[in-house]
Amino acid sequence: MKVSIDYSLCMGDKNCNLVCPEVFEYDEDQLQSRVIVDEVPSHFEDAVRKAARECAPEAIIVEE
Ligand code: SF4
Repeated sequence: MKVSIDYSLCMGDKNCNLVCPEVFEYDEDQLQSRVIVDEVPSHFEDAVRKAARECAPEAIIVEE
């Protein structure tokens, strides 16, 4: 699985960081989240899907 964030949509509410901090990191300079892995480790895939579902502006793009 790969995951990315559409920075034109991310409103920086940090929810994805709370759901899966191993994959999403909050960038204090940009006031947005960023992805810190190239490939999502399999044991974090469910958490990434949950983060994507909960992302209100639908900024998280999951490639299965
Ligand atoms: S949950 Fe969505 S809007 Fe919130 S910080 Fe993460 S990518 Fe941005």
